[in-house]
Amino acid sequence: MEGHIILPFFIYNQMKQIFFLALLFSNAFAVMGQNASSWQQAVDYKMEVSVDAEHFQYKGKQELVYTNNSSDTLKKVYYHLYPNAFQPGSEMAERADYIPDPDARMVKKIKDGDKEIKENRIQNLKPDEIGYLKISNFKQDGVTVTARTVGTILEVILAKPILPHTQTTFTLNFDGQLPVQIRRSGRNNAEGIAFSMSQWYPKIAEFDFEGWHADPYIAREFHGVWGNFDVKITIDKDYVLGGSGYLQNPNEIGHGYQDAGVEVKYPKKTKKLTWHFVAPMVHDFTWAADKEYLHDVVKGPNNVDLHFLYKNNSKIIDNWKKLQPLMVKVMDFYNKMIGDYPYKQYSFIQGGDGGMEYAMCTLILGNGTLEGIFGTATHELGHNWFQHVLASNESKHPWMDEGFTTYVEDLVVNEITGKKAANPFEGNYKVYYSLVNSGKEQPLTTHGDRYDFNRSYSIASYVKGSIFLSQLGYLIGQDKLAETIKRYYQDFKFKHPTPNDIKRTAERVSGAELDWYLTDWTETTNTIDYGIKSVTENGANTIVSLERMGRMPMPIDLQVEYTDGTVESFYIPLRMLFFEKANPSRSVGTAIKRTVLNDWPWANPKYELTISKPKNSIKKITIDPSGLMADVKQQNNSYEVK
Ligand SMILES: [Zn+2]
Repeated sequence: MEGHIILPFFIYNQMKQIFFLALLFSNAFAVMGQNASSWQQAVDYKMEVSVDAEHFQYKGKQELVYTNNSSDTLKKVYYHLYPNAFQPGSEMAERADYIPDPDARMVKKIKDGDKEIKENRIQNLKPDEIGYLKISNFKQDGVTVTARTVGTILEVILAKPILPHTQTTFTLNFDGQLPVQIRRSGRNNAEGIAFSMSQWYPKIAEFDFEGWHADPYIAREFHGVWGNFDVKITIDKDYVLGGSGYLQNPNEIGHGYQDAGVEVKYPKKTKKLTWHFVAPMVHDFTWAADKEYLHDVVKGPNNVDLHFLYKNNSKIIDNWKKLQPLMVKVMDFYNKMIGDYPYKQYSFIQGGDGGMEYAMCTLILGNGTLEGIFGTATHELGHNWFQHVLASNESKHPWMDEGFTTYVEDLVVNEITGKKAANPFEGNYKVYYSLVNSGKEQPLTTHGDRYDFNRSYSIASYVKGSIFLSQLGYLIGQDKLAETIKRYYQDFKFKHPTPNDIKRTAERVSGAELDWYLTDWTETTNTIDYGIKSVTENGANTIVSLERMGRMPMPIDLQVEYTDGTVESFYIPLRMLFFEKANPSRSVGTAIKRTVLNDWPWANPKYELTISKPKNSIKKITIDPSGLMADVKQQNNSYEVK
């Protein structure tokens, strides 16, 4: 973890001089260029909230110490007021009206004769069912400033500009109402959880090397500034809470948080309890509350407390108990595969509307099958590493979060369920091909909110983003990919990496040149299509003609099966990759003899190779037997000699 220190002015001035000198010897500082966002803003939140549980309303005070670590002078700041999305006429509501495939949770399907009408749930909310977050008494260092609410954003014109490398304190009061559960946060979700409190507080927007990211809340995703949260929540004493942070007063609260052997007794008149949480180095604070939560705590790897909060419902208790040792295993797997989880606790909480990742916790639906809950919990836990600790800008690059999370989830599910499929990503490739064939694909550079279809967003972010990594394994080999993932986490945790950072890490680890890969895969909808054009006899030899029909190039693994049952493989390096990968069959057990051929330059769509055996000794030739290269037309990838 990193602290944030304000340097006294004279030290700062001295550092500027040192930095100037260092620029003269800029090679020595080359490492600073590894990430465009090598500085970042810092926040320190203090919040006190009092909840009117009967009306799902809450009032609070917020103090936010904001540190401007940029070299810009800030005259404005922006806050997110996410609950305002749940009002008729909001951008989120309008979007659900106009997108051809609205999220099923946001519409109610009504039969009208033969027709099915989708009624927009947000547009029909009544005043006591909407969400809101009203801000009052906004002050900067004690001076009242103008704050204007624009939909889900609060635009604040500052009383005095925040100079580079200085700190300012914002204070405000907020008045909130938790909407009827529609998306992510809400009251009384489908499984009867009273409070799903995500994105519930005024949250300052991220300002980074690209500028402000004051994205309106339309559907997705979230991005934030790291800092320390100190949150006190006062609510009727019967409610059990789970969420981000470490409870500071467990022996006053009880509800399963108390130390072993402690019996918690509330004074007779106690109606409400004040839960005091502290969460260091997070960019979000989420909680949930219900009167019927059961609460188990299990020790995970590195002594991390894993909390499980779920309804006291006899139909689900068994599943939630079985889930607990499984999640210990999953966390251990992720720690080994990516790097250690850096916090002391994580909570799996029944709540929300499916599965959503938050700081140190997830809200998931919990009435389904064990397999279903396990899959969701595994996915959401995986987000910790990518959404929370690395924390790329999810709105701009959702594929770096959802895609990479899907990748590690598929690996761990394949491992723990004992499926042990040779290619655990096979399903992803099929779904990606179906999107390409639909003609509705948009490049991964599309903002998460701005895809024409929800389906295009989902497949791009989760699936094509996951293939970015599984296909990288095809390019540089599984060992180098595994090393890349670990090094990426090590080098960029708590730094908001950008797409170039994962590419550059893979280059550093492998020595390959991957600029073209990042560009083609994420900035275009170029596809891969190689084919075996012909197999002809030439005396005692066989000539195989290959062609590249797709715009995106790749190195080629070619497997030849002979009629005598033997197998041989050929590897055609891609010239612009400047890399020769290790024989992939090495890692799958029996190593197959491999011949490395001349490289294939991109500019030439044709390639010929000679096999020094007659055609009638060949049974079958296959391009990429691993299935890890996303060739959109599989039909022409194999050739059977008849
Ligand atoms: Zn996800």
